[in-house]
Amino acid sequence: MTESCAHIKGVTTVKHATHRACEECVKIGAQWVHLRTCQTCGVTLCCDNSPNRHATTHAKATSHPVIASAEPGERWLYCYPDDAFLEY
Ligand SMILES: [Zn+2]
Ligand SMILES: [Zn+2]
Ligand SMILES: [Zn+2]
Repeated sequence: MTESCAHIKGVTTVKHATHRACEECVKIGAQWVHLRTCQTCGVTLCCDNSPNRHATTHAKATSHPVIASAEPGERWLYCYPDDAFLEY
């Protein structure tokens, strides 16, 4: 883990999940473990503990770097390219 990066510093308002569900899992009828919200486009997808890892797939496919946890009580941001983590 490194210190927070330029991508995370660029997030001035944290985007929160509009629906408490992984949009991609809902389409295929799959289950998820935890939810993450993309800070570039606002989509909410599932974490790396979930079978389909949609948040990571989305970040790699779109180059959207930063996600926030969409879990109640968790307040953190994570940047994929920099492996940077910040609690807010
Ligand atoms: Zn970054
Ligand atoms: Zn998913
Ligand atoms: Zn995105």
